[in-house]
Amino acid sequence: MNTLEQFYQEIKDCRKCGLCESRTHVVFGEGNPEAEIMFVGEAPGENEDLQNRPFVGMAGKLLSDLLAGIDLKREDVYIANVVKCRPPENRNPQPDEIAACKPYLWKQIEIIKPRVVCTLGNFAAQVLLDKKVAITKVRGQHFQVRNFLVFPMLHPAAALHQGNLRPALLEDFKNLKRFLGQGIQPVQQPEQMGFF
Ligand code: URA
Ligand code: SF4
Repeated sequence: MNTLEQFYQEIKDCRKCGLCESRTHVVFGEGNPEAEIMFVGEAPGENEDLQNRPFVGMAGKLLSDLLAGIDLKREDVYIANVVKCRPPENRNPQPDEIAACKPYLWKQIEIIKPRVVCTLGNFAAQVLLDKKVAITKVRGQHFQVRNFLVFPMLHPAAALHQGNLRPALLEDFKNLKRFLGQGIQPVQQPEQMGFF
């Protein structure tokens, strides 16, 4: 069993926040455990909760299509969420729920060691950047966080609800392709920076 699977076994019955009351599954995430690129959404919806897989509903179909459009397969990347259990009626995750769950995301990142973490929507951008940012302001830029780069993007579900956001979402994926094509700059580890 690899470390990621071990970690899933540790948290699959988690009851650290109130979302445990109404969920069916702790939707851990899926994909390549050694992915260079990770995608982080907000929280599971109904299909995700029932199937125990991230991004398998309408937003998931759109995400898969967008990935295919830039020659990435779901199996190549790793897909997870900020909050692992479905909020009732798909309401926004609350600050206490995000606080309870986000150490799990950080641990996944620590195990997978991606070079780029693409955040989908406001919640993931705010958690990864540890700042109350507006996605519309930060999309199109990238940020060094610890030993990886954060690449904020719109959430596919936003473009499903507001059709006028679709071109911007497509643009985010085109920008990601260009960004990855430039060769991801090696991220300097503190021990390589000559402080010792
Ligand atoms: N939206 C998300 O943010 N995550 C999912 O897993 C599905 C839809
Ligand atoms: Fe645990 Fe996260 Fe689910 Fe809350 S949302 S019960 S912290 S796994």
